[in-house]
Amino acid sequence: MSEFDYDLFVIGGGSGGVRAARIAALYGAKVAIAEEYRYGGTCVIRGCVPKKLFVYASAYSEHFRDAKGYGWTVPEPSFDWPALIEHKDMEIARLEGIYRRNLQNAGVEIHETRACVAGPHEITLASHGRTVSAKHILVAVGGRPFVPDFPGSEHAITSNEMFHLPRLPKRILIAGGGYIACEFASIMNGMGVDTTLIYRGDQILRGFDDDVRAHVQAEMAKKGVKFIFNQVLDKLEKVEDALVAHVTNGETVAIDQAMFATGRKPNTDGLGLETADVALGRGGEIVVDAYSQTNCPSIFAVGDVTDRVNLTPVAIREGHAFADTVFGGKPTKADHELIPTAVFTQPEMGTVGMTEAQARERGRVEIYKTDFNQMKHAFAGRAERDFMKLIIDKESRKVLGAHIIGANAGEMIQMLGIAVKMGATKDDIDRTVAVHPTAAEELVTMREPVSD
Ligand code: NDP
Repeated sequence: MSEFDYDLFVIGGGSGGVRAARIAALYGAKVAIAEEYRYGGTCVIRGCVPKKLFVYASAYSEHFRDAKGYGWTVPEPSFDWPALIEHKDMEIARLEGIYRRNLQNAGVEIHETRACVAGPHEITLASHGRTVSAKHILVAVGGRPFVPDFPGSEHAITSNEMFHLPRLPKRILIAGGGYIACEFASIMNGMGVDTTLIYRGDQILRGFDDDVRAHVQAEMAKKGVKFIFNQVLDKLEKVEDALVAHVTNGETVAIDQAMFATGRKPNTDGLGLETADVALGRGGEIVVDAYSQTNCPSIFAVGDVTDRVNLTPVAIREGHAFADTVFGGKPTKADHELIPTAVFTQPEMGTVGMTEAQARERGRVEIYKTDFNQMKHAFAGRAERDFMKLIIDKESRKVLGAHIIGANAGEMIQMLGIAVKMGATKDDIDRTVAVHPTAAEELVTMREPVSD
């Protein structure tokens, strides 16, 4: 008999927590999990999944216009926001059910309550008012968006509320220049909302390749997104049913909605981590080692609460690696190298590996780029330009970075990510026969470096 109630107690039913709980249980561990809101976490409930559904919905405005170029007669389309929200909610409920069933099928005990750490092996369940014990605790409580404090900030919302707005605003101001701000700017613009993005820097998507940033920004602008650069929003004023946004340069913008996407915070407040002396970083994130173990040996943490690479598939990998390490007898470090990722702006962007600037710091490189109007769009009269860039190590010829902008860039980068992870060289890419006619074939037909 174990001296503990459970081998593993997982706090948080998002992507990382659910994967860890399931795999640990399949290894034979006695596992319980607690979630205070809905199973599925940020990704399923108020992140990747509903966001992608919104992306699909917003793209139809262009599809209807393109259709005319292909000979279709399309009556003036209209968009029903409440219908989209209703269908989205049904889909989220379906996915939440799948998450629960997968946990149940693996034999995980499911709790629907807030749970807090009460010591190195103790967890308090809020709804039961009781404390249980576990040999290991996994904290996978994720993060949350926030609106910074400024005059009128109570009138602003975050991405969380965007998924439940009763009405589609006519005009929106989105603050931030990262993944969430840019994705929502594209979504709103595609749905016909007069959209302005305000960013404190001079180019969106800091951290991505500079050519990519410039290209995405230019294409978003062509589609109608307005940008205010080098400024922040410093006051929001309610005027009847609308808002007036005051910008640091003295400009004002009349809007119906203001959304903040200026970063997220790890959900560590009030979690009881001090009862086990778990070390936190400056932003409140849980500090972990390569095995996701905290300084308290019985407590581990995965996903956004650790603020390493805040992506769903990474949290899943971290959760799986934790279960393999602790319950599967296979010590496994979470692999954070060469993570392919997509930003679902319009046009979409996919990237893996280094930016040109990072690669140049490391050594000599060859750069291949192409910029073209793909067949589907050219025929329909759409001026959108795709962009592809490969960054090659001059000596080894290995692909150090690959960047794609255009329809289905996320799908393309997933495939290219495999090759890059395997250590593909430019010669391997050159040896690959093109699939014709596709946009992706441009990846294997770039022959002349633009610079080295
Ligand atoms: P990011 O960290 O990507 O972006 C935050 C943005 O807010 C940056 O542009 C930042 O500017 C700006 N900002 C930060 N503080 C301030 C401030 N005080 N005043 C004005 N601007 C400020 O965060 P997001 O919230 O967009 O996304 C969080 C994470 O979620 C991402 O990093 C990503 O890992 C994940 N995500 C992934 C998605 C995907 O895979 N498609 C989709 C959505 C989210 P600056 O650049 O100058 O620092």
